[in-house]
Amino acid sequence: MRRKGSNIDWHAVKSRGGITMKLTEHIQIARKSVGLLFSLSKAHTICMILASFIGAVLPYVPIYFSARLLDRLYEGSGVGELALYVLLTVGIVFLLSLARAYLDSRRRMAATEMYRSEDWKYSEKTMQMAFESIEDREVALLRDRIQRETRVGYNIYRLFSSLEGITGHVTKIGMSLWLTASLLFLKTISLSAKAALAAGLALTILCKIITTKRVEELSDRFYGECVNRNMLRGKFQQYVDDYHSGKDIRIYGMAEGLSAYSMSINRAYCEAEHRKNMGQARASLANVIMSRALQFGVYLLLLSAALGGGVSVGSIARYVSCVMLLLEAASGLASSLQTALVNQKYMKRYFSYFDIPNHMYQGSLTVEKRDDNDYNVEFRDVSFRYPHTREYVLRHVNLKFKVGEKLAVVGMNGSGKTTFIKLMCRLYDPTEGEILLNGVNIKKYDYDEYMSIFSVVFQDFRLFSFTLGQNVAAGTVYDEARAGQCLVQAGFGERLAAMDKGLDTYLYKDCDKDGVEISGGEAQKIALARALYKDAPFVILDEPTAALDPVSEYEVFSRFNGIAKDKTAVYISHRLASCRFCDKIAVFDQGQIVQTGSHGELLAQKGGRYYELWHAQAQYYE
Ligand code: ADP
Repeated sequence: MRRKGSNIDWHAVKSRGGITMKLTEHIQIARKSVGLLFSLSKAHTICMILASFIGAVLPYVPIYFSARLLDRLYEGSGVGELALYVLLTVGIVFLLSLARAYLDSRRRMAATEMYRSEDWKYSEKTMQMAFESIEDREVALLRDRIQRETRVGYNIYRLFSSLEGITGHVTKIGMSLWLTASLLFLKTISLSAKAALAAGLALTILCKIITTKRVEELSDRFYGECVNRNMLRGKFQQYVDDYHSGKDIRIYGMAEGLSAYSMSINRAYCEAEHRKNMGQARASLANVIMSRALQFGVYLLLLSAALGGGVSVGSIARYVSCVMLLLEAASGLASSLQTALVNQKYMKRYFSYFDIPNHMYQGSLTVEKRDDNDYNVEFRDVSFRYPHTREYVLRHVNLKFKVGEKLAVVGMNGSGKTTFIKLMCRLYDPTEGEILLNGVNIKKYDYDEYMSIFSVVFQDFRLFSFTLGQNVAAGTVYDEARAGQCLVQAGFGERLAAMDKGLDTYLYKDCDKDGVEISGGEAQKIALARALYKDAPFVILDEPTAALDPVSEYEVFSRFNGIAKDKTAVYISHRLASCRFCDKIAVFDQGQIVQTGSHGELLAQKGGRYYELWHAQAQYYE
C-alpha cells in the first residue's frame, strides 16, 4: 500500500510484522542481504563463514579417527599404527581449533567496526534524503521501527546468525551423510528399518520447522505490537533525560505523572513479553520432547542393526554419532532457514528505508560564480502545498528581487513566510509555477552548487555541542581570524572576549564539562555569525531577532546593511518595525503576497494589510 505522493511503503511501517512476500521478492531480498553483508565488512563475513565451516567439521575428526582406532584395536594392530591415529586425531583437531580461534578473533575485531558503520548508515541516509522525507512522519516511524528491530536482533544480526547457522548445519549434514552413506548399503539393516530411519529424520525436521515457526510468529507479533509503545517510550525517555527538560519537570511537578505514565507503558510491555516467552517455552518444550524421543528411537534401531552382525565396532560408533549429529544438524538447518525466512520480511522493511528515493530533480548546471554578486531571483506564479496535505500554503506568488536589494518578508504567523524561504532554498520544490535564478529554473542547477549561494538563519536553527569556532565555520578546519570577525559582526564580540578559551570554548556540556550554556539570544548571534562565515551571495534571516533583547535587536538592525553589504538579503519578520530599513517589503497574508513596496509606500496605502498590521503593532514601539 502506497499513499498518494508518498515515497515509502506505508504498509511496511504499520504492519505488525505480517509482510507478505513472493518468491521473486525473497530471492531479490536474499541477494541484496548477502550484498549488504559483504559491503558492511568483507573480512567479518568471510571469517564468519570459514569459522562456522571449521567448527562444523571439528566434531567429525575424532569420530572418524576413533572409529578407525577402535577397528584397528579390534584387529590387533601394532602400537605404532594406533599411536599414529591418536596423533592424527589430536593434531588435526588442534590445527582446526587454532584456525577457528584465529578466524573468530579476526571476526570479533571486524564486528565492532561493522556494527558501528551499520549504525552510521541511518545518519548517512538522513543526510542524503530529500528534506521533504525528513519532515515526513512516516519516514521517521519507519526509521524508528527498523532501528528498534535491529537492536533486538533482527536484520543484520539475524542475517549473520542464519548465514552462520546454514553454513555450519549444511557442512554437518554433508559430513554426516558422507560418513554414514555406507549404512544405506548394509544388508543387515532391513529396508523397513532404513525407511523408519528416514521417517525419523523427516519427523525431526518437521517438528523443528513447526516449533521454530511458532516461536518466530510469537516474536513477530510481539515486536509488531510494541512498535508504537516502544517509540513512545523512547521519545518519553529522551524528553526526561534531556537536561533542558529538567526545569519544566521541576517547576510543573511533572515527575510523578511522568513516572506513572512510564510505568504503565513498561507494564504493558512486560505483560506482552511474558505472554510471548511462555508461548515460546511451550513450543520449545514440545520440540525437545519430540526430537529426543525420535533420537532415542534411531539409537535403538542402529543398535539392533549392529547386533545383527556385519558391522564393525568402529563403524557402529561412527554411525551412531554421525546419525545423531545428522538429526541435530537437520533440525538446526530447518531452524536457521526458518529464521532467515522470517528475517527476510524484516530485511524488506530495512531496505525499504534505505531505498527511499530522493525525488528532487537534480540538474547539472553550475551556478555562475560572480564577483559582482549579480544574482536575481524570481518567483513566477508559485503555489505550494506540503506533502500529504490538501491546503495550499502559498498561492500564486509572484516576486522578483534585484541584486543587492534588501527584501523584507512580513506577515502574521503562519502566513507562509518560512515556506517561501524553504522553496527558494530548494528544500521543497513548488507544487505549481517555477522559481528562477538569473532566468533559469533553479531545478536545472546542480543541487549542491545552488545551495552554496545561500546563507540562512532559520528560526529553528540548531547549534551542536562542539566548539564555538567549529559552530561558526560549520566544520572542524577553519579560519580563526574570520570566525572571530564574524562573531564580532554578529554582536557576539564582548561575550567572545570574556571566554577564556575563545573559539575553542565548547558550547553546552554534552562534549565537555567546561562547556558553556548560552542564552537563546547568544545562540542566535552565533547562528548569524555562521551565516556570515559562509559568505554566500544571499543572506536570509528568518526572524533572526525573535530571541534577542531590544538592545541587541537594534544592534542587528542597524548593522544589517553593513553586514549584508552588496549581498542580496531577505529578512523575514512579523515585527514590522524591524523591516523599515529594507528597500522592498513583501506582505504575506494567508499564503499570498498581498502588497509590495517600500515602508513609505505601503504605509501610504490606508486600509491595506501593511497599514493595518503597522498600526496594530505600533503601540508596542511608540
Ligand atoms: P510563517 O513563517 O509565516 O509563520 P510557515 O511558512 O512556517 O509560516 O507556515 C505556513 C503554513 O504551513 C502554516 O499553516 C503551517 O502550519 C504550515 N506548515 C509549515 N510547515 C509544514 C510542514 N512541514 N508540513 C505541513 N504543513 C506545514
